[in-house]
Amino acid sequence: MALKEPRNQTWKDRKEYKASEPEIENWERRYQELYTTFNRLYFSDQLPLYRVSLHDRLEVPGIPLALSKHVAGYCDKKGRRIDLEAFPFPKGQSILLHEMAHVASNVHHGPKFCQEMERLAAAGAPIGKLNMMNYVVSFDMRNGHVRAE
Ligand SMILES: [Zn+2]
Repeated sequence: MALKEPRNQTWKDRKEYKASEPEIENWERRYQELYTTFNRLYFSDQLPLYRVSLHDRLEVPGIPLALSKHVAGYCDKKGRRIDLEAFPFPKGQSILLHEMAHVASNVHHGPKFCQEMERLAAAGAPIGKLNMMNYVVSFDMRNGHVRAE
């Protein structure tokens, strides 16, 4: 799961805009298409089909609400489903890629997952700054790019 800003007041609390049903449906369809596109571009079409599901707000079953407030995405391997906070398309694409890296590795943030993130970064996938900072060891903070090694 992707975590952001470990404070009491989270970005979810500050979020003022409430997405309408048609908006959520529209974004959900486009994130689902993006899953297929990312799978082709960065995973050689090797990932099984997962259903991408949008929620405003996302609450993850089995984890406390206080922690759930920080979660932007969740990967349910058993149900082959990715749950995303309802970010307007394509704002949540880096979170989608984070969850796809879980599909390709495991549900932890250990070496296997980080290796997957490294691979995505090197392939030029739009994994976003938070993923870079947290999981890509070769990320050069000062220059904002992945060091070639
Ligand atoms: Zn995660």
